[in-house]
Amino acid sequence: MAHPLSRRDFLRHSLLAAAALSLAPLDALALGNKPFVRKGPPKKVIVIGAGPAGLSAAYELVQVGHDVTILEARTRPGGRVYTIREPFSDGMYAEAGAARIPPNHGLTLAYIKRFNLSLDPVYPATLSFVSSNQSKRSELTWKGYASAVERAVGIDLGRDSQRWFKIRGGSDLLPKAFAARLTEKILYGSPVVKIAHDARSVRVTFSQAGSYQTLTGEHLICAIPFALLRRIEVSPPFSPKKRQAIQDMTYASVARVFLQVRKRYWLEKGVNGFAVTDDPMEIWHPTFNQPGKRGILLSYTRQHYAQRITAMKESERITHMLGQMEKLFPGIRQHCEGGVTKCWDEDEWTRGAWAEGSWWQLKKIAQPEGRVHLAGDHLSSASSWMQGAFESGQRVAHEINDAP
Ligand SMILES: Cc1cc2nc3c(=O)[nH]c(=O)nc-3n(C[C@H](O)[C@H](O)[C@H](O)COP(=O)(O)OP(=O)(O)OC[C@H]3O[C@@H](n4cnc5c(N)ncnc54)[C@H](O)[C@@H]3O)c2cc1C
Repeated sequence: MAHPLSRRDFLRHSLLAAAALSLAPLDALALGNKPFVRKGPPKKVIVIGAGPAGLSAAYELVQVGHDVTILEARTRPGGRVYTIREPFSDGMYAEAGAARIPPNHGLTLAYIKRFNLSLDPVYPATLSFVSSNQSKRSELTWKGYASAVERAVGIDLGRDSQRWFKIRGGSDLLPKAFAARLTEKILYGSPVVKIAHDARSVRVTFSQAGSYQTLTGEHLICAIPFALLRRIEVSPPFSPKKRQAIQDMTYASVARVFLQVRKRYWLEKGVNGFAVTDDPMEIWHPTFNQPGKRGILLSYTRQHYAQRITAMKESERITHMLGQMEKLFPGIRQHCEGGVTKCWDEDEWTRGAWAEGSWWQLKKIAQPEGRVHLAGDHLSSASSWMQGAFESGQRVAHEINDAP
């Protein structure tokens, strides 16, 4: 380890992780002490999207005996929960999407507990953080860093660096845990192109290996971003308000550039590899609690800066970010072994990082139309978080289970 934890730090981490887990309900779907028990005969349910929303809805419905099929466009589960493992060496990994879990995200923590996954802190408790404001570099304590992050990207990190968690081994272990329990029920490489629905059934057309197929069920869950739903033909069309909301939804831009270094050279200078700039950009050192001497620094850019990076070619993105990181952590050019990038605006099955609508505006849109139910983090009170995706998954699981 680059900077091993003292016994005191270790105990503190363990206690905080235990405290976070104790906030989580024991049974994820027994939300508000309402047990989830099947009502009536099993229903045939089709789910579009194997992200956290679709997976959790499917998992809960299958648990009580409903017959579920999931259609997923990609060849992997998880959607925007995506851990990058290649082309890094020495078993290192970093998050392209979901990474941080606050301690009050009880549902996310409940599923982590259910699947026996472990938590680690996102941020180190030692060494200095770096900030750059109007090109002036300074080294900060956690308190100064948290204020700078709040000013730059609007996230309140709180007073304690140890209140944020990540999944040990990578965030993708969580969707993979769902998928392993649903493996026979998922059809990968199956993008949906058409939905037809009436009072008695739903019919979904999807493409698979170049030919079109249809599947019929009693209920449909659309657990995909509106940016993709608006490309699907729906017959008869949704109500005008729903159509308008689906059409108008805008998405935040995020670009991440990952640089692998031979050595975590910055630690020798008393800084921990985390930084924030007013561009707006955060730099993370995701390997600080991964074994080995090599490391990864990743830049997390948003808004117009993310769009600027997205417009560059892959090699330009890396050269550009090397220049930026050199100013924050001098020496990276001598140590960098290569890099990789992820720009969410150009992801074919997401088309943006997260929806920009607000829950009070979308609450009505989230209601089912006939036999079609909408899920996804954008249709929850925790938009842009896995917690929101799980909340929406639970909502639609209840809607379908309760339906006559
Ligand atoms: C850069 C970034 C950082 C983030 N950071 C965090 C964080 O720190 N903590 C946190 O909790 N959350 C974070 N999130 C948010 C989190 O990833 C999302 O809230 C969550 O993934 C939403 O789940 P979902 O199931 O609603 O959608 P998605 O994860 O987008 O899943 C939708 C699925 O639908 C599939 N699909 C799309 N169209 C079709 C089609 N036509 N047919 C079939 N399948 C289709 C997609 O391939 C995808 O698998 C972050 C996201 C991003 C992008």
